[in-house]
Amino acid sequence: MLDTLTAALREVLPADAVITDPVRLRTYECDGLTYHRATPGVVVLPDTAEQVASVVRLCNEFAVPFVARGSGTGLSGGALPREDGVLVVTSRMRRVLEVDLPNRRAVVEPGVTNLAITEAVRDRGYYYAPDPSSQQICSIGGNVAENSGGAHCLKYGFTVNHVEACEIVTPDGDLVTLDRMDPGYDLLGAFIGSEGTLGIATKITVRLSRAPESVTTVLAAFENIEQGGRAVSAIIGAGIVPAAIEMMDALAIEAAEAAVACDYPRGAGAVLIVELDGPSAEVELQFARLKEICAGAFELRVAASQEERAAIWKGRKSAFAAVGRISPAYIVQDGVVPRTALPRVLAEIDRLSAEHRIRVANVFHAGDGNLHPLVLFDDTEPGAGERAETVSGAILDLCIEHGGSITGEHGVGVDKARYMPRMFTDDDLDTMQLVRCAFDPRGLSNPGKVFPTPRLCGEVPGVRKGVHPLVESGKAEQF
Ligand SMILES: Cc1cc2nc3c(=O)[nH]c(=O)nc-3n(C[C@H](O)[C@H](O)[C@H](O)COP(=O)(O)OP(=O)(O)OC[C@H]3O[C@@H](n4cnc5c(N)ncnc54)[C@H](O)[C@@H]3O)c2cc1C
Repeated sequence: MLDTLTAALREVLPADAVITDPVRLRTYECDGLTYHRATPGVVVLPDTAEQVASVVRLCNEFAVPFVARGSGTGLSGGALPREDGVLVVTSRMRRVLEVDLPNRRAVVEPGVTNLAITEAVRDRGYYYAPDPSSQQICSIGGNVAENSGGAHCLKYGFTVNHVEACEIVTPDGDLVTLDRMDPGYDLLGAFIGSEGTLGIATKITVRLSRAPESVTTVLAAFENIEQGGRAVSAIIGAGIVPAAIEMMDALAIEAAEAAVACDYPRGAGAVLIVELDGPSAEVELQFARLKEICAGAFELRVAASQEERAAIWKGRKSAFAAVGRISPAYIVQDGVVPRTALPRVLAEIDRLSAEHRIRVANVFHAGDGNLHPLVLFDDTEPGAGERAETVSGAILDLCIEHGGSITGEHGVGVDKARYMPRMFTDDDLDTMQLVRCAFDPRGLSNPGKVFPTPRLCGEVPGVRKGVHPLVESGKAEQF
C-alpha cells in the first residue's frame, strides 16, 4: 500500500520532496525524546499548503496514517513517525508571509522558527512573546501543536494566547481556516495543543507584542532551594508579576557551569532569575520591592547591559542539554503543581532521588509551578534506566496528588499517554476522543499519541465495544 501511495506522492510533489532512501529516512526516526524510535515509511517535504493538502488526501485514499513534524525538538515523542505511514515535514515552509504592525499581527508558514518571528520585527520594536528555550530551532507549527510555553509565559501567556488564526489541512485533506473571531465553538482553541491529532497547520497568524520600555534582569543566589521557593511565593504575594521567574538547583547549576561556564555564584544551593519588564517607573518600583524580598540571598546580580542579561540567561537556557555533561543519560520530565506546593513537592523529589539512588536536577519555571526535573542515570548500569523511569513516573504522581498536571508544556505525545488514566477517567478520555473523531473520524492524523488505549474512531489497538454513554444519552454524536 505504501509503495502505491509513494508513487502517487511523486505525482503531486517535486522529485526531491519525497524521501524513501533508508539512510535519509533515519534522520527522522525520533524527536527530542530519543528513546522512542521508528523509521518512517516515507518522508515528504511539501513547500505549500496545497501540497500538504494533496498529501493528506492521498493518505486518506490509501488509508495510510500521517504524522506532522516541524523541527523535531519535541520532548514527548509527538513527532515519532509511523513505519506504516507518511511523515509530513514542514521545514521547507519557512516564509514570513505578512507583517501587519498596525494590527500587531504576522502571518507565517508553519516551519518558521519561533525566534525568526521576533527577528523579523525586532528592529521595529516588536517581538513574539512565547519563548521556549528551544526557540532558535523549534517551529511555530510545533509550538501551536504543543501549545508551547517558555520563561516569559508567566506574564504573557502561552502560545494559545498569541495565535489569532490557523489555516489547517483537516485530517481528510480540506484546507480551512480557524479564526479566533469565528462565532460558535472555539475550534482554534481545540486545535492549539492537539499535538498533530486534529490536522496539520499550514499558515499561522500570530499576535505581536510591543517590546517593553524597560527590562531589569536579576540573578539571586540562595543557600538552598527552600529559601528560593519562599522568595518566589513572596514575589507573587507582593502583587508583582515578573516577565519570568526561573529557578535552578545546585545540580542543574553544576551542569550549566560545566557546559557553558555561566559563572553563577559559587556555592549556591539555588539560583533564581527574575526578569521585570514594562514602563520604566513601574519596573523601578518593582525592583525596589524585589530587593527587599530577596534580602536573604547571599548574592544579587543585576544585569547592567544586554550582554550581562544574556549571560544570566545563558545557564538557564542551556540547562537541558547541559546535563549531558554530568550524566550519560537523562529523562527530561515536565509536570505542574500549584506554586504554593513547590517546596513540598521538591522535598518529595529529594526523597525519591535518595530512595532509588537516582540523581535529579531541578530546573523550573517557578512562577507558574512548571517543574522540569532532569532524572539522571547511567544507561550502562543494569537496572538504572528502570529506576530512573520509576522516579520519573513517581514525580508525575506527585504532581497529580498536589493538584497539578502530568505536563506543563511538553505535551503528552507517546511518552505520557500511559499516564493519562491517572488524571482522567475512562469517560473523560472517551469524551476527548469524541472531539478527535469530529475532526478525524478515521484516526489517520498522528494516531497512537496522547490517548492510552484509543477506543473510538476504530484506531488501533482496539475498538470500543458498545455505545459510548454520551452517545447513548443523546449528548454527543458518534461518526
Ligand atoms: C533544549 C530544549 C528546550 C526546550 N524548551 C522548551 C520550553 O521552554 N518550553 C516548551 O514548551 N517546550 C520546550 N521544548 C520542547 C519543544 O521545543 C517544543 O515542544 C516545540 O514546540 C516543538 O516544536 P518542533 O517544531 O520541534 O515540533 P516537533 O517536535 O517536530 O513536533 C511536535 C508536535 O507537533 C506536531 N506538529 C509539528 N508541526 C505541526 C504542524 N504544522 N501542524 C500540526 N502539528 C504539528 C507533531 O506532530 C508533534 O506532535 C524544548 C525542547 C528542547 C530540545
